[in-house]
Amino acid sequence: MPTFKAPRGTHDVLPDEHPAWARLAWIADDLARRYGYRPMTTPSFELSDVFERGIGETSDVVEKELFRLETRGGEETALRPEATAGIVRAYIEHGMRTWAQPVRLSTLGPMFRYDRPQAGRYRQFHQWNVEAIGHPGPAVDAELLELNLRFYAEAGVADVRAKVNSIGDGACRPGYLEALRDFYRRNSGRVPAGDRRRIATNPLRLLDSKEDALVALNREAPRISQFWCDACREHFSAVRVHLDALEVPYAVEERLVRGLDYYTRTAWECYRTGAEGQQDALSGGGRYDLLVAALGGQPTPGIGFAVGIERVLIALEEQRAEGGEAPEVPVPPAPLAVIVGAGAQDTVSRLRLARDLRAAGLAVHAELAPRKLARQLEGAARDGAHFAVIVGDEVAAGNVVVRDLEAGSQRTVALVDLARFLERGEARHRHGAGSRPERPPSMPAPS
Ligand code: AMP
Repeated sequence: MPTFKAPRGTHDVLPDEHPAWARLAWIADDLARRYGYRPMTTPSFELSDVFERGIGETSDVVEKELFRLETRGGEETALRPEATAGIVRAYIEHGMRTWAQPVRLSTLGPMFRYDRPQAGRYRQFHQWNVEAIGHPGPAVDAELLELNLRFYAEAGVADVRAKVNSIGDGACRPGYLEALRDFYRRNSGRVPAGDRRRIATNPLRLLDSKEDALVALNREAPRISQFWCDACREHFSAVRVHLDALEVPYAVEERLVRGLDYYTRTAWECYRTGAEGQQDALSGGGRYDLLVAALGGQPTPGIGFAVGIERVLIALEEQRAEGGEAPEVPVPPAPLAVIVGAGAQDTVSRLRLARDLRAAGLAVHAELAPRKLARQLEGAARDGAHFAVIVGDEVAAGNVVVRDLEAGSQRTVALVDLARFLERGEARHRHGAGSRPERPPSMPAPS
């Protein structure tokens, strides 16, 4: 038989790794609640048109990286490479323009891009997405950028800064694109051959490139700020006034354009200081005032950002490896009790008692192997449980024996009192209430 591995560019989140993952999902969920962004979920795939019209047919994400699905009914669908297009599709479909504006939304889930896998670049990864649709800004731009950076502060990633730019709008960007095309045409000898067709189709992607030849050339490229219309200039300066007032750490980066077509005006990316390479962006965000109309809705402004969860986990790992402060990841609590049986074969009684205690809200394991009591008790101690509940002959009289594995003592407890007895023990137990998660995240865990 062949041995199978997870597909290239995907990864399993194993139980030991899950608490770090769940912690970030919890922080995202909690921040969304505090800032008033309501959780929602859209499908993991959409009609391909949603991405083609929304993100742009000439963007890398659509042109090269879209996971197109083979479907039977002839509908062309694709796995989502990002969440915004699907959320905007839902905004239009569900008539959210009749809700109080802006509609503030948050979602966390898997994204799919058929990219060349490498460190920090996966084919399936997870993003926390936050969107505010229906307000032109500039204050909401600052609210989102501040929220984006707050996430790193609460997650414990140190020294994160935003690079911010305004990439113009429908009025001034066409002029800038023309100037860029002219510039690259004049310098086409310095544009790598494989990228030359982009001069006509998508010159912003050339400006965004991290290839050495282009990085050097781009230093001489025309700057967007020279082309801003008055409205864009005023918008950006008002965004900056708000960011300064909120003491958000950012720097203006004029070459930042973002890879997706639907962005207008404010755009940003967040990096840890000193880790600013191509695979290092922790998040990207920006305004997309043309997207709702591009997907068939009434013209409606919008803005949002996406945090790459795996990138944040990598940043925390690096921080730990560099000897920096890294947050404690909560260890999932051991079971309060393990249900064991004097009768090696009597798994029915153990399972039934475990069911009743679980229904009463307690975390208990049932020892289900048909083995000797002594072996079962050893297993219970290995599990780190505080108590072993021994189901034996006393059950006929409505009792069980409860052994305190930490104290080494044991006593008979009536079945009707058992849940309360264990609960009292839980309060004193090192795995007790204090180490329980305060609130489970409402967001889904990685799939
Ligand atoms: P984007 O939608 O390309 O702006 O991406 C937003 C964020 O998602 C990036 O800043 C990364 O943190 C993360 N991200 C994007 N693509 C990938 C990928 N292929 N693998 C892992 N994380 C990614």
